[in-house]
Amino acid sequence: MIKIQREIEQEITGFLSNLIRINTTNPPGNETKAANFIAEYIAKDGFKSEIVESTSGRGSIIIRLKGSGEKPNLLFLSHLDVVAANPAEWSVDPFSGIVKDGYVYGRGAYDMKGMTAVEVMTLLLLKRNKIPLKGDVVLAATADEEKGGEEGVGYLLRNHKEKVWCPYVLNEGGGLAIPQKHSNIYPVQTAEKGILWFKIKAKGIPGHGSTPNMADNAIVRMNKVIEKIGNYQPPTLFVPTLRQFLSEVVKHNPDIKDHFARLLSNPTQSDQILDELATKDKALAEEIRPRTKMTITPTIIRGGVKENIIPSECEAVFDCRVLPGQSVEETLATIKALLKDVGIEKLSFEIIQKHDGNESTTQTPLYGAIKGVLKEFEPNCGVTPTMTTGGTDSRVFRETGSVCYGFHPMRPDEPNDDLERRMHGINERITIENLVFGTSIFYEVVKRFMT
Ligand SMILES: [Zn+2]
Repeated sequence: MIKIQREIEQEITGFLSNLIRINTTNPPGNETKAANFIAEYIAKDGFKSEIVESTSGRGSIIIRLKGSGEKPNLLFLSHLDVVAANPAEWSVDPFSGIVKDGYVYGRGAYDMKGMTAVEVMTLLLLKRNKIPLKGDVVLAATADEEKGGEEGVGYLLRNHKEKVWCPYVLNEGGGLAIPQKHSNIYPVQTAEKGILWFKIKAKGIPGHGSTPNMADNAIVRMNKVIEKIGNYQPPTLFVPTLRQFLSEVVKHNPDIKDHFARLLSNPTQSDQILDELATKDKALAEEIRPRTKMTITPTIIRGGVKENIIPSECEAVFDCRVLPGQSVEETLATIKALLKDVGIEKLSFEIIQKHDGNESTTQTPLYGAIKGVLKEFEPNCGVTPTMTTGGTDSRVFRETGSVCYGFHPMRPDEPNDDLERRMHGINERITIENLVFGTSIFYEVVKRFMT
């Protein structure tokens, strides 16, 4: 096993720092500038690349390192756009790419130009070291992920699928070690919940506020709707990712062993068991709970125009998240059935956004390679699949049949809660050590999986 260390430390630090300096705040994005920078950088090593723009300025870069075709191709996916940063809140300029105290600072350092840097560096090392690949390694650093990916991954898969589609994909969404008492557990994101955002409009009959019984108050009806939905107990469903997660964590954390073992053998009692766990570790219990069932909660409500007018209309928006395997259509039908006796004929439904959940199996040689390499670096570490309650670009690849893992390997350098706040947060940064660590893991994973 090659220890990639100091030789690349300076190079990857400089690369990331320069990439951060190119402001790709989305909107508007302007990702082509970042794509051009990468294209020029890798051209020095003889790489050809292609920049595909959905519209002017919204470029994604694609680089292909050819293999012999004996093994399936692997895509290194990342996005070049970042969310906005307010310089007044930061201790450094968010777009200066400053290197300080072992960190590279700046918007995107963590989400996710840091991973783009790891992927580019890995590609360079594979070529420089003439690793004989049996499949292509394709790198796609894309536009627009932070706004849903329509101008990036969505555009590429609709119009240039042959350029980017691979049976295996590595992307963001997991990889940051979860520290336990005596070991780290590395999560590999294998599943994402699906989204059903919908609006319910309640109708009534208007009237004067002084004679309420002569009217039919739409706010009162909506109140019943919210109560019904709030009281609904969705069925528990333990998808493979959750089962494997619970069984892996049990091995590393004796304190919660009992709760997790009971959860695994009594999924139908998960709420009671999680309530008990919450008295010991509230954060952990509420992390797990939304992964055991679909959730639904009101997020916007509007109704009424004047103090003394009984409103004939009230509308509310709901954020519902379904598990992989639960269809959004069936979920909406269940919700409608729930509302039968609150005057369903006076309710109308409008879907704002929807897509099903998705999950990749861990029964693949790529997952095996990830696990094997991590254990080589840290023999007592755990590796577990995880599900995120929000989504990434992995969704569109899983929908087209790719096996997709969210895996940006990092060791924690602060408590994990603080690290998670760094994503889209203030003073976003990544350690140089993690840039080197991530590259080492990626390089070894590719060697194991593709040679
Ligand atoms: Zn991201």
